[in-house]
Amino acid sequence: MKISINKAHFPVSVLGPGKRLGIWLQGCSIGCKGCVSQDTWERDPGRDMTVRQLLDWCRNTTAGIFDGVTISGGEPFDQARALAALLDDLIRWRTSGKLDFDILCYSGYPLSTLQKNHAELLAKLDALIPEPYADARPLTHIWRGSSNQPLVPLSERGHRTYAPFLNTPADHATKRIQTMLDGGRVWYVGIPGRGDMAALESSCKARGVELLQTSWRS
Ligand code: SF4
Repeated sequence: MKISINKAHFPVSVLGPGKRLGIWLQGCSIGCKGCVSQDTWERDPGRDMTVRQLLDWCRNTTAGIFDGVTISGGEPFDQARALAALLDDLIRWRTSGKLDFDILCYSGYPLSTLQKNHAELLAKLDALIPEPYADARPLTHIWRGSSNQPLVPLSERGHRTYAPFLNTPADHATKRIQTMLDGGRVWYVGIPGRGDMAALESSCKARGVELLQTSWRS
């Protein structure tokens, strides 16, 4: 089974609790205004890999020592069959390795749409952050970009892991952005506040560093 990937990183510490595997799928048909991940929108066959290759990378990178997996995008549910295969393999790995990691997935689709069209996928997840990013709504809670996006525990493990965080506010003391270097590129991972990326860009410019290509403006 092929899956289209934008990037994968470990460890990620700003999209869910603990030390996590972060997997960003490529392709999004939703197009929220103000999306900071516009580099994930276009489907690109050059970014395809097999689910098995991705799982091998997960196993080799973490050596089984991590707290959770966060799947984002792009829009993961736009690749429903590949997402199902990935979740099946992650769950098999968790069971056979006697591991205890949770699986959190983001989606820009409304919760009601996912419940109607993808109940079998929701049954494989521990927690979900659904609903489109709304640029006009404030950033109020950790791990969520706008106040319309709930954190929804879906499994017993999900309730156990995420119950303490359902109403945790996003404030300036909370770490929201992580910087990573990969293949000559700089990745900012996490949930920026309104204006954070523009402020970063002008701060870099003031220091003589011009960002020629960014994911938050087309
Ligand atoms: S915020 Fe997510 S769902 Fe919305 S356009 Fe960006 S990648 Fe797609």
